[in-house]
Amino acid sequence: MNSSSNECCGITDIFGLNVFNDKVMRERLPKNIYQAFRQTLEGKCPLDPAVADVMANAMKDWAIEKGATHYCHWFQPMTGVTAEKHDSFISPTQDGSVIMEFSGKELIKGEPDASSFPSGGLRATFEARGYTAWDCTSPVFIKKDGENTTLFIPCAFCSYTSEALDKKTPLLRSMDALCKQAVRILRLMGNTTSEHVIPTLGAEQEYFLVDSKFVEDRLDLLLTGRTLFGAPSPKGQEMEDQYFGSLHDRIGSFMHDLNIALWKLGISAKTQHNEVSPAQYELAPIFATVNIATDWNQLTMETLQNIALQHGFVCLLHEKPFRGVNGSGKHNNWSMVTDDGINLLEPGNTPHSNAVFLMFLCAIIRGVDTYAKLLRASVASAGNDHRLGANEAPPAIISIFLGDQLTDIFQQLNDGGAKTSKAGGEIKLASMLPPLPKDTTDRNRTSPFAFTGNKFEFRMPGSSLSTSGPNFVLNTIIAEILREFADEIEAAKDVQTATQKIFKRIAREHSRIIFNGDNYTEEWAKEAERRGLPNINNTVESLLTILEKDNIDLFKKHKVLSEKELSARVEILLENYVKTIGIEAKTTLHMAKRQIVPSVIQYAGSLASSISAIKTAGAGSAAGVENLSSVTEWLDQLQAAINHLEKVYAESNGTGDIRKHALAIRDKVIPAMNKVRDAADALETIVDAQFWPLPTYADMLFKR
Ligand code: ADP
Ligand code: MG
Repeated sequence: MNSSSNECCGITDIFGLNVFNDKVMRERLPKNIYQAFRQTLEGKCPLDPAVADVMANAMKDWAIEKGATHYCHWFQPMTGVTAEKHDSFISPTQDGSVIMEFSGKELIKGEPDASSFPSGGLRATFEARGYTAWDCTSPVFIKKDGENTTLFIPCAFCSYTSEALDKKTPLLRSMDALCKQAVRILRLMGNTTSEHVIPTLGAEQEYFLVDSKFVEDRLDLLLTGRTLFGAPSPKGQEMEDQYFGSLHDRIGSFMHDLNIALWKLGISAKTQHNEVSPAQYELAPIFATVNIATDWNQLTMETLQNIALQHGFVCLLHEKPFRGVNGSGKHNNWSMVTDDGINLLEPGNTPHSNAVFLMFLCAIIRGVDTYAKLLRASVASAGNDHRLGANEAPPAIISIFLGDQLTDIFQQLNDGGAKTSKAGGEIKLASMLPPLPKDTTDRNRTSPFAFTGNKFEFRMPGSSLSTSGPNFVLNTIIAEILREFADEIEAAKDVQTATQKIFKRIAREHSRIIFNGDNYTEEWAKEAERRGLPNINNTVESLLTILEKDNIDLFKKHKVLSEKELSARVEILLENYVKTIGIEAKTTLHMAKRQIVPSVIQYAGSLASSISAIKTAGAGSAAGVENLSSVTEWLDQLQAAINHLEKVYAESNGTGDIRKHALAIRDKVIPAMNKVRDAADALETIVDAQFWPLPTYADMLFKR
């Protein structure tokens, strides 16, 4: 068990213990250096190399005191996971000993070999040079891996030719774009104090925990993070007794150590609970600037996996580890806040008269409707295909839930102008209980994009996704619509008339994207089709929409991604899809041929021997014969399905064109894999448990 179990007493003492945060900087940096760095953080001046040198030295001393021997530039290449290259602080001296050194130059820039990271054709293998650049807006921190302690420096990553090769760069650029346009709008609407607008993110993270001993016997979980085989457990989630259920001791201890580890990293882990599926849980931190929240989420996913191992669990972050029970998502709570603390999505008590709020709300409504396909594509992945539009929440159709109060205001705007706001009221439950103030609106759990009080909750991202993609898309599309609005207001004679005109137009033109009903029903799918809303239920089709001209123009205009960078990203995402399903197909074949078929043959043999023995003894066994023929029939079907999968998988390779390859994977390989699984799962329900080579769904979901 983790040694941190006894460290719960002084949470305020351990919070941020391993972060070179503002408090540490104030203590350790000379005043002028600290102030110069704050100016850089506030976007007022570029980083002075002399300041960087002093900072680097202070970071090194702090890190060494905490046991660090190395530093590393920590970045987020297009693999979706983080990368780190460690360098020690040692520097040889003339007398054959060493001193510990760390310069401003080393802090600011690293030169990892870029050729082994996905570049989507931006770089040939021999064109190896790449750079990492310190992102001084996200604090450096110390991380301990085993006995190794390292100073981590959050970085962006680009090629020698300055193209972004990572997830952080477009996110930072999109924050700039949003800030610029949002401040324009604020000025036009009379705000003279706010200098910056910052997108905020609180990412709720769902995950599964499975006892490690079962994972050791499941190659599929080990290699693909999901079960490629498995008949349903007789009990699933139908009792609805897992969601918010009391925590099992082992889970509670795990969560305790997880929280301690996250708090030390300055990550404000806040909520935790059992989720809907057995063995499924959720964690959410307090929100932060989208860039920092994205770094946090990467660290959270890593920490979940590490602490799970220490507790004898494996943490599964796949979107659909188990067929037939809920999958995992990552709810993306997003808003915009000014540097002087105004949440721009806070409606106040009378939203109908809050013009700034309505302006930003209208921008979101128009942005989400106009760029629905792009937003959809920002969450496309092989794993998420099991959720979106596939018997799982939310559907692949993007719509917005506004709730009663805002929908009513939106309707009033459409009718000519908003004059009133519906109030929430009070709930009186029993005479001895205090009255409860009631929200102005119910919640809607089925909506992919729901207004939740003072933020929007985008529920489509999958549990393993980097939050960079959906957020840089969201920031950029909102920046673009705010730009349109600002241009229009600037060109108009009178701000108020122009504002009302925009509200009315948005209410008229974009009401189709508002849907407050149940998003899981078939009627909604039909209704959405009538409204002309896209419904793209698979990754390949979705990714192929990214390169539409409007999207290329959008990213170019706001300097978030060049056309070259955008095409490279599509290429990488398609490759990732092909490789992910490729590994699943090969693992399916491996397990079917080397584990399942041999075990079933053994069982059939033993059944046949038993039937013969019974016969020799002078009796007959109709049940034995019936079982044997079922088993051998399914076995033949399984073998035929294996042969078919082998054939279509081999054929899918070698088309030379990534688009064709991805289509072949989607249309041929996935259905062939499903056939193998169907036959194997049918066998699992009729083969003697002692012969079955894999831990069952009941084992994995219920044994702790
Ligand atoms: P839910 O009831 O939706 O499961 P949780 O409490 O689990 O809610 O998560 C809500 C998330 O939204 C938290 O991470 C919270 O910090 C975040 N959040 C709250 N306000 C904002 C905001 N203004 N901007 C971004 N995220 C926010
Ligand atoms: Mg939650």
